[in-house]
Amino acid sequence: MTLERDFHMLGGTGESSYAANSTLQKKIASGAMFLVEEAVELLVSAIPSSKTSLVLADLGCATGANTFVMLSAVMEVISTTCTKLGQPIPEIQLLLNDLPGNDFNALLGPVLSSYKKKINKSMSESGIPFYTAAAPGSFYERLFLKRSVHFIYSSACLHWLSQVPLGLNSTTEGPINKGSFWISKKSPPNVSNMYLEQFQRDFSSFLKFRNEELHSEGHMVLIIPGRLSADPSTEESAVWISWYEEGLQDLVSEGIVKASDVDSFNIPLYFPSMAEVKSIINMEGSFEVIKEDVYEILYSDCLDAIPADTDKIWEKIINISRAVLEPLLISHFGNFIIEPLFSSTLPKIYAKKFFKEKYKSANLAISLKTK
Ligand code: SAH
Repeated sequence: MTLERDFHMLGGTGESSYAANSTLQKKIASGAMFLVEEAVELLVSAIPSSKTSLVLADLGCATGANTFVMLSAVMEVISTTCTKLGQPIPEIQLLLNDLPGNDFNALLGPVLSSYKKKINKSMSESGIPFYTAAAPGSFYERLFLKRSVHFIYSSACLHWLSQVPLGLNSTTEGPINKGSFWISKKSPPNVSNMYLEQFQRDFSSFLKFRNEELHSEGHMVLIIPGRLSADPSTEESAVWISWYEEGLQDLVSEGIVKASDVDSFNIPLYFPSMAEVKSIINMEGSFEVIKEDVYEILYSDCLDAIPADTDKIWEKIINISRAVLEPLLISHFGNFIIEPLFSSTLPKIYAKKFFKEKYKSANLAISLKTK
């Protein structure tokens, strides 16, 4: 599996697309907009009033409209702060980054045009001109010119690692994380260390490259799905992963999937704690933390409306993780897994578990400035 080739959210704007299944991520982003507003106010107050343009970047924008949640908040603050300071309102360049497999056509086509239709009605008073550009590539590498970006934002992305930790599928010992495809209670203890070390390497590279790209007065706000507890094998942030593991095991018992294929499947995800994130920021050394916040969002809030037909409830809820995991599942197991997993096995597991407890996702929001 190659991350750059196989990993992307489900494209288009259809029923199981990411664009149609990102309400949870929208709520996660909304919970940290106050940090975005404060950072942009500091930015606008610090740059010379002669500055006629500002460059913003959303890293890991996917195909949903959540990038425009941030853009709307930023434009509002720019408009009020510039008016308060008697400064001219700058034009905005919005750079939209994601991996090359992302459906940029959906984002810059139908999703952007429906946003433009909305703002023409509701925001004509601020009416800041903005221009979008796609910037495909991995954010674990350099993406932009040196010192060229004023505000960097990334929401619900940095828990995706650049690769499955090396060593999980060691050729001499065979797969070491048998039966699980992530850090679970069953995983040997070194599995969680391998994941943490991969996160440390990836997040340090991310900080190093962003430090090179940010303007000297630039700010960065990161929202990272994480965890509250010290133990990464607790299911608090990603209980749905254990449901997928159960679903795959059911397919093994039914003879549809080979046990060895489940043993060698691992996903490149890590949900860090705030202590881990801050210790990497300190070690890497380019950024100071201006403000931080940890907040939880209920999984059941992912539904905009509860469908009347009960079968549709599971379809709708499962589509949220499906939009994220389907390309990875197909690349490892093949297309045949989709029908039994999503139409038969998972709906039964979700029906037993989803509303049993008030499952929540913990989110870490952090506002940073270069030192
Ligand atoms: N920010 C959006 C999308 C979150 S989904 C929102 O709030 O709705 C996570 C996104 O991160 C996916 O689109 C995925 O392709 C992207 N992503 C993961 N790893 C990445 C990387 N290394 N470089 C760029 N984008 C990445």
